[in-house]
Amino acid sequence: MKQRFRNLILLISLLLLPATLNYLSPYVSIDGAMNGIISGSLLLFILLFIFSIFLGRAWCGWLCPMGGLAEFTLKINSKNVNIKKLRIIRYVIFSIWFSVIIIMFVFAGGIKGINPLHLTENVISVDAPMRYVIYYSVLILFLVSNILIGKRGACHSFCWISPFLTAGYNVGKMLKIPQLRVVAVPEACVNCGSCNKKCSMSIPVSSSIKDGLIKTSDCILCGECIDTCNRKALSFGVKLSSEKKI
Ligand code: SF4
Ligand code: SF4
Ligand code: SF4
Repeated sequence: MKQRFRNLILLISLLLLPATLNYLSPYVSIDGAMNGIISGSLLLFILLFIFSIFLGRAWCGWLCPMGGLAEFTLKINSKNVNIKKLRIIRYVIFSIWFSVIIIMFVFAGGIKGINPLHLTENVISVDAPMRYVIYYSVLILFLVSNILIGKRGACHSFCWISPFLTAGYNVGKMLKIPQLRVVAVPEACVNCGSCNKKCSMSIPVSSSIKDGLIKTSDCILCGECIDTCNRKALSFGVKLSSEKKI
């Protein structure tokens, strides 16, 4: 039931993408920075950073339209991916993109204002034929990446938003703020491996629970592992967490 509800939210989010695309766009952030403006997308990324201090990557598991697309492509390719290798690509892309934003703000003479509707004057993102081309290009890019790479391949390899969420998660951890996590009762686990197969983020769940909770920032709090475990070894809980690299 929980997963059906989650999939419904993700589907609605995906269907709304023509309206919301600009608020997730890496280009709109750069264009805003060129004019000294904090655009709607940069504003959303900052809000997601704050959100993730308390709720980790729940955005990815429950709300992100591209996460929704990734969940639906699991039916085509559900192969586990190499998290460590793909993470390097993601951070290289993010570092270049974020550096460009900072440089653009410097050239523009600093931050001059905030405009959530920058380049989105009609509120709706896809409001002209050329923007349909961008919309379908983005969809195809994510779709093909997920199909070729494997489970949530685009999320792991080039998503420019996930570093904000990971950073928020790490800040929450550093400040010792209780965060929403998947908690575990290791003694209840019989090592059946069902949770490992179900995890769309390729996390080796069963071997990560010996400390009593999933500690990696790759966990998107989708709850698939919780729902699949018939030993009731896993559940959601609010805990202090510490990072552990897989
Ligand atoms: S990693 Fe990026 S694309 Fe994937 S669900 Fe999270 S924000 Fe969306
Ligand atoms: S599904 Fe439950 S019992 Fe099976 S390995 Fe995972 S935590 Fe252990
Ligand atoms: S560990 Fe569980 S909650 Fe986290 S991403 Fe994997 S299946 Fe989802």
